[in-house]
Amino acid sequence: MSEPLFDRVAIIGLGLIGGSLAAAMRARGLARTVVAGSRSERTLERGKLLGLIDDGSTDLAEAVKGADLVFLAVPVSSMADTMARMAPGLGNSVIITDGGSVKGKVIAAAKQSIPQHISRFVPGHPIAGKEKSGVDAADAGLYEKHRVILTPTSATDPAASARIRALWTAVGAEVLSMDPDEHDRVLAETSHLPHLLAFSLVDTLARQGDSLDIFRYAAGGFRDFTRIASSDPLMWHDIFRENRDSVLQAVDLFQAGLARFREAVEQGDSESLLAIMTRANSARAHFLALSARTSYTRALSLNDDKVSDKTAMSNSASAGHGRRVEFHLQPGGALNGSLRVPGDKSISHRSIMLGALADGVTEIEGFLEGEDALATLQAFRDMGVVIEGPSAGRVRVHGVGLHGLKAPNGTLYMGNSGTSMRLLMGLLSGQPFSTELTGDESLTRRPMERVAKPLREMGAEIATTGKGTPPVHIRGNRQLKGIHYDLPVASAQVKSAILLAGLYADGETSVTEPAPTRDHTERMLTGFGYPVIRDGATSKVVGGGKLSACNLEVPADISSAAFFLVGASIAPGSELLLRHVGINPTRTGIIDILKLMGADITLENQRDAGGEPVADIRVRSARLKGITIPEELVPLAIDEFPVLFVAAANAEGETILHGAEELRVKESDRIQVMADGLTTLGIENEVYADGIRIRGGQYGGGEVQAHGDHRIAMSFAIASLRATAPILIHDCANVATSFPGFAELASAAGLNLTVVQG
Ligand code: NAP
Repeated sequence: MSEPLFDRVAIIGLGLIGGSLAAAMRARGLARTVVAGSRSERTLERGKLLGLIDDGSTDLAEAVKGADLVFLAVPVSSMADTMARMAPGLGNSVIITDGGSVKGKVIAAAKQSIPQHISRFVPGHPIAGKEKSGVDAADAGLYEKHRVILTPTSATDPAASARIRALWTAVGAEVLSMDPDEHDRVLAETSHLPHLLAFSLVDTLARQGDSLDIFRYAAGGFRDFTRIASSDPLMWHDIFRENRDSVLQAVDLFQAGLARFREAVEQGDSESLLAIMTRANSARAHFLALSARTSYTRALSLNDDKVSDKTAMSNSASAGHGRRVEFHLQPGGALNGSLRVPGDKSISHRSIMLGALADGVTEIEGFLEGEDALATLQAFRDMGVVIEGPSAGRVRVHGVGLHGLKAPNGTLYMGNSGTSMRLLMGLLSGQPFSTELTGDESLTRRPMERVAKPLREMGAEIATTGKGTPPVHIRGNRQLKGIHYDLPVASAQVKSAILLAGLYADGETSVTEPAPTRDHTERMLTGFGYPVIRDGATSKVVGGGKLSACNLEVPADISSAAFFLVGASIAPGSELLLRHVGINPTRTGIIDILKLMGADITLENQRDAGGEPVADIRVRSARLKGITIPEELVPLAIDEFPVLFVAAANAEGETILHGAEELRVKESDRIQVMADGLTTLGIENEVYADGIRIRGGQYGGGEVQAHGDHRIAMSFAIASLRATAPILIHDCANVATSFPGFAELASAAGLNLTVVQG
């Protein structure tokens, strides 16, 4: 029981909405006395019998006497008359609120009927209901975890609004505020229009003949779509009349959309049809993700908007927050067979970007359907590009050409993807329209100025926050000019952003890097037919060219393949074929280092995929020996060190690493976290500021912490192949986002892994 918020509450109109508030307040002790005013004695009798009210009156002025809160829950069309009838009984300090579904009309009624109380009138609308109505439908739990929209006007006293907010919060609702006109427009589009369509569809078909027939043959879709036509006709009749203007506008908007759809069907215009439906599909996933506060990936797979709080919780967990996932490993085993690990993330991003800017249709296979690449995909859809899929890694991008992007309707949302934001900053600097880019909480803390600075030198107009972080505003219609830029710090993202802006610049744009970084942008531009001149550490493009669509099989990610390269090397009796792996020389440090340690790795069937070199990699078990890792290989294998440490633990002698201080600021302090785990297993090691020394040898099992770092988790899973006792790894949920399907793939190859979810 809570402290009473009000002394005497008068509910005027004791139906579903009024009765439910009465029930909720009584259940929680929020009012000392609850009374009701109603047209009918019968309703009042039922109210008392059901325990909703202490007393009631058919004289509304009598009912509100002495009340410090009045809640109006009658049809919108009877609000003015009801208010006028209760007015003589209202006290000087009473707070009045309502639950009507249309706000403009209710506010007008209050101005007319209770003008002297207008500052203490707080218009509201609970977004909750049932298909039943009347006092018997009252339900104390109706408002729990539902939204209530308050629409205060300039005349509303903020103190009165605060008390109504406290009331709805106390009955378990989430309270939002909105302008009344905006409320009526938004509700017309999102609630009144769908109800109108459902009533109309059932009526239209029922007029066709035997109305029973439509239900006899109705498929699930028809039932789902028309469920809301079971709602109370009287109430909806009231709403359509009272929100007339906004409802008509929504109907017109819909009719225009329907006409476009009809035209596309009539003309057999499959591209327009696909455009409409893919946009609708992704927009629905987008709002489901937002309303369930779940990840975009998860929302795409949802086929039901009733995302319960339970699902919402587990959804966010699948993005790595909150859910406990452990890996349990039995020692021993070998890895055998042929497998393909998921697609490369960097290449997946660029396949969408370049496909969108190309002339023609680009077919992509092996696209990594992870959060980040999906954010890029959504951004291009928002800029009018028709993209089919992704479905099992297949995507078709209907390119619009270098100058075919359209202004998005709103801010482009990049989720957690720094790559999307930085690369798009370059590309959008050259567009004829302005854009705003934002992202999730963590992305909006990341620095964007090192990209913005060179782009400004090219003539772009870009604004970031005072801290140099997103949101990023990019002014359109700026003619860019080519520059030469010496990168102060090696960064593939900054380099790529400048080169992408260079496609839109006058003349030549060139970038020189202080150390080699990933060159996927340069290679893929070439793959899409756009010449990139490369001369040592400098890459150059000339603006004004064009890209041509191509078919692209995204190479499997060598960083994901790395776990299997090490696993098959250390486990006796292993032979694995890893298919279609990207072997871009800026990424193959892992192969070079393993070969120096004596690994048996061969590259077969080397070929080109959209400008990127790929191969099938065969790896057989071998006796590894410890080495001092050449420092020039360190940047080329930076993400692969956790699993290379496992290789070192299984090598004869010592392996020494220096020059890898960057490992300390990855998803975890990868040097320390790996060292701790290796020590638990019984492997001798010594940590340096910029590296580690590991002495290979026999090791046991134990419990290790992954600290939420996916690569640490997968590395210790691989270590189990040579352990002599079981290994338990904590905090492994993030593996699912970086390497979807790792557990299944590794188990099929021979790892004794069980995933336990807490
Ligand atoms: P309800 O269950 O039918 O209750 C309506 C109440 O209003 C009854 O107490 C009824 O009194 C009274 N009433 C009906 N016609 C009246 C008239 N001409 N003059 C005076 N009183 C009249 O309806 P409800 O669902 O609670 O809806 C009440 C309000 O909440 C409406 O403004 C509606 O727009 C809004 N609302 C409804 C929902 C929903 O899903 N149902 C959701 C949000 C907001 P008697 O008992 O004497 O007949």
